Amino acid sequence: MNGSLKIGHLFGIPIYLHWTFLLVIPLFAWIIGSQIVLTTELLADLFGLEITMTYYLQGWMPYILGTLVVLGLFAGVLVHELAHSLVAKSKGITIHSITLLIFGGVASMEEEMPDPKVELPMALVGPLTSGAIGGIFLAITYGIAAAAGAGAVDAATAGVFIFFFGYLALLNIILFLFNLLPAFPMDGGRVLRAWLAKKMPLHQATKIAADVGRGFAVFFGIFGFLVLSPILVIIAFFIYIGANQEATMVRYNFLLKDVVVKDVMSAPVTTVRPDQPVMEVVQMMYETKHLGFPVMERGAVVGMVTLGDVHAAPPLDREAMQVRDLMSREVVMLKPSAPLTDAMRIMSRSGIGRIPVMEEGELVGIVTRTDVLTTLEIKEA
Ligand SMILES: [Zn+2]
Repeated sequence: MNGSLKIGHLFGIPIYLHWTFLLVIPLFAWIIGSQIVLTTELLADLFGLEITMTYYLQGWMPYILGTLVVLGLFAGVLVHELAHSLVAKSKGITIHSITLLIFGGVASMEEEMPDPKVELPMALVGPLTSGAIGGIFLAITYGIAAAAGAGAVDAATAGVFIFFFGYLALLNIILFLFNLLPAFPMDGGRVLRAWLAKKMPLHQATKIAADVGRGFAVFFGIFGFLVLSPILVIIAFFIYIGANQEATMVRYNFLLKDVVVKDVMSAPVTTVRPDQPVMEVVQMMYETKHLGFPVMERGAVVGMVTLGDVHAAPPLDREAMQVRDLMSREVVMLKPSAPLTDAMRIMSRSGIGRIPVMEEGELVGIVTRTDVLTTLEIKEA
């Protein structure tokens, strides 16, 4: 995912942190810190506990505690995502990476259309993990309260730990309940889809789960406006976008399910040489209306050059440049027999507009984003 920071590996899966995290951590820490008295009263009422605030109201303590709670929350989100990924891995699905975002995480998987038998346990394990973390933290909270009651720990020290574990218990229980909502893109939406998919085609099941997701989003949005909660409105917005994306992706996969690259690719392909002047290639773009060409050297594709690559070079420098100076060398290629959905996925994920088609080392065609969109339009008619 763009704009993400790699923070390490767990179980062989690279873990990324989205850059928005760097903004969100201090923001959340500040919100928690400044509302610490209010939250303490809420936790005390909710769990029926006495919480002594003496130690954590002094100086910077509310904000330090706020930071620890935020970090604890994100650790909880990470464990939740890891649970999804480990179940997926055990079912033979490749997990490329996990990215932690503001509202939870995203595990990037090989498959876009999971088998319902795999999706059900995979989706369920996330909220169940959050629920279990919430339960364990709640038990710890009560344990500390009991120790303080028996005089084993002084009440002021116990108060700090009760606040920390009690708050994280509450947040993980909220994650558990929220993710069980039977609406896309929450985990509960996947559970609902997997369940519906036993009775109907996958794309139909997805449509229903996405409609429920959009319904929830509208409800949250209106509710957020009424109670003047910007956070709820933002969450509603993300749910709406997520539900739409999921539905569109599955719809496209359904429409293109019988189409292979060979059916829609253009051939023969116009190619260029690495030593060709860039200005000559620009002229070719005018004449052919193709905005990118494979670069061939001694019968092999060694790169791609596109209008975007040309634009990236300063206009004055282009005059003296050759194709090799600005071509991209990492070329994704497909076989003629590859499903067109593979091409679509690569294009949307990597922002590539055209993919050379190779068979036994020979360039046999090229498939472009326009080819995919035109095919979708025809199939939709
Ligand atoms: Zn989840």
